[in-house]
Amino acid sequence: MSHVLAAVAWPYANGPRHIGHVSGFGVPSDVFARYMRMAGHDVLMVSGTDEHGTPIQVQADAEGVTPRELADRYNRVIAEDLRALGLSYDLFTRTTTRNHYAVVQELFEGLHRNGYIVPKVTTGAISPSTGRTLPDRYIEGTCPICGYDSARGDQCDNCGNQLDPIDLINPKSKINGETPEFVETEHFFLDLPALADALRQWLDTREGWRPNVLRFSRNLLDDLQPRAITRDLEWGVPIPLDGWRDRPDKRIYVWFDAVIGYLSASIEWARRTGDPEAWRKWWSADGEGKDARGYYFMGKDNIVFHSVIWPALLGGYSGEGSRDGEPGELGRLNLPTEVVSSEYLTMEGRKFSSSRKVVIYVRDFLERYDADALRYFIAVAGPESNDTDFTWAEFLRRNNDELVAGWGNLVNRSISMAAKNFGVIPPVSPAGLTDADRALLETARAGFATVGDLIARHRQKQAIGEAMKVVAEANRYLSEQAPWKLKGEDDKPRMGTILHVALQVVSDANTLLTPFLPHSAQKIHELLGGTGVHAPMPRIEEVEDLDGGPGYPVLTGDYTVGARWESVPLEAGRPLAAPKPVFRKLDPSIVDEELARLAG
Ligand SMILES: [Zn+2]
Repeated sequence: MSHVLAAVAWPYANGPRHIGHVSGFGVPSDVFARYMRMAGHDVLMVSGTDEHGTPIQVQADAEGVTPRELADRYNRVIAEDLRALGLSYDLFTRTTTRNHYAVVQELFEGLHRNGYIVPKVTTGAISPSTGRTLPDRYIEGTCPICGYDSARGDQCDNCGNQLDPIDLINPKSKINGETPEFVETEHFFLDLPALADALRQWLDTREGWRPNVLRFSRNLLDDLQPRAITRDLEWGVPIPLDGWRDRPDKRIYVWFDAVIGYLSASIEWARRTGDPEAWRKWWSADGEGKDARGYYFMGKDNIVFHSVIWPALLGGYSGEGSRDGEPGELGRLNLPTEVVSSEYLTMEGRKFSSSRKVVIYVRDFLERYDADALRYFIAVAGPESNDTDFTWAEFLRRNNDELVAGWGNLVNRSISMAAKNFGVIPPVSPAGLTDADRALLETARAGFATVGDLIARHRQKQAIGEAMKVVAEANRYLSEQAPWKLKGEDDKPRMGTILHVALQVVSDANTLLTPFLPHSAQKIHELLGGTGVHAPMPRIEEVEDLDGGPGYPVLTGDYTVGARWESVPLEAGRPLAAPKPVFRKLDPSIVDEELARLAG
């Protein structure tokens, strides 16, 4: 047993999440966490909503609400979506808690003390009417290279050149059309070049990473520049230095505060359990956390923050860059064991876009379809290692032909037949098991090692494929053995043996599929006459801020209960529940209906 941190990317609280988001960070991290718990590890799975920064400020202004009000709204929506998907967070919190502010400031101070945060005067664009930083992508103008008239401040989409907003001809704010002012402004920068050697050494020791992630991360190290970590903005974490702390116009940049959320959420979780030091078992590089492993889950657009910037912050705080230094009061901290990034999901051949309505939000999806139908699709056909297209036709096919006609059919016919003919789990007859019986039982049992190993190595597509092979084998076995033909009194013992074998394999396959399909796994457990929690589920809890701020909802749960990653022998004579279908077959007309919705 070991301590395993499942650190899940923080969804930005400026709107509801769509299925592209949850296929990248959400479902894969939950499959991993559920499996690791079932295999006996001590898992801590944390995340929350990312709530600072310019986009939330801009959107709040447009709606005439405060940024906090906007964040409150979407924090609640997102937490509810993730709960409905059954994502088993130990704590899903948010970045506007006082605990988070304190942890962010502690890291900032530690990095500053060790010399890895340095002040610098730069020329930056601000909005003359608000005095706020205008980020590069909020500035538009004519490209100085090709003359394209809607080039962005950071890049021209026409000629592809990287730009500096000050070079744009006739620059305008995309927020309100005004001409930005370029002023000298003092900001703090993270001195990434001073941490580059330490990062390279760390990357060289990484094992098992997806090669594209490792290659991409190494390339980033070749051209590391100091990176601004403060902004001219009122909405964010204050800068914890004398002369800056009380300035209303300067805040820590959102990307700096959001990655620290993994640590602050772990600390919040520990404080809420009543053992405020418990987080160290997953984080302390010395002492009790030194053998812990940390796995980070995200979409590929976030790799840089997890494989370069977050390790740089942790290393610099721990005193491990070219300027050395001493660890702060949290001690030396663990860097990520592995950065698990997924590729992009597109929708009917197009990029997801809320503004262009190429989107389906999680809550809309779950109003019409079951959570496990979506989880199944993401597991078998998600963007694990390639960009992948979600189409309604493929969703329908996967649901009806594989989930319903494959797994659902096996569950349904074996339990129905046993319930009808025996009412209980039938015993193996005195004649014993045939070679075919034994072979099938062995196939199912062998699945635990194969499927478990694949999930542990983040090959979830292959893992669920192996579990579904067991299902296919069991369906073939039932067709060959044809227990429904064994009607006579003399045949009944053999019928009982076949159904006993089939139900045992249903039980084993159900355990193999539990990390992927936890909702249906619980139902199947009960159909087999099982009691208690098989697949624990998260719940929303309204909590007080630990340090006197406003209260908020968190997602949490008790995951110490539930099935173990092992074959549990079924007891003959155990009563079976009245059979009912576990999965819903979808009508083919949903494809046209959904496409019509997309077309608006
Ligand atoms: Zn251009």
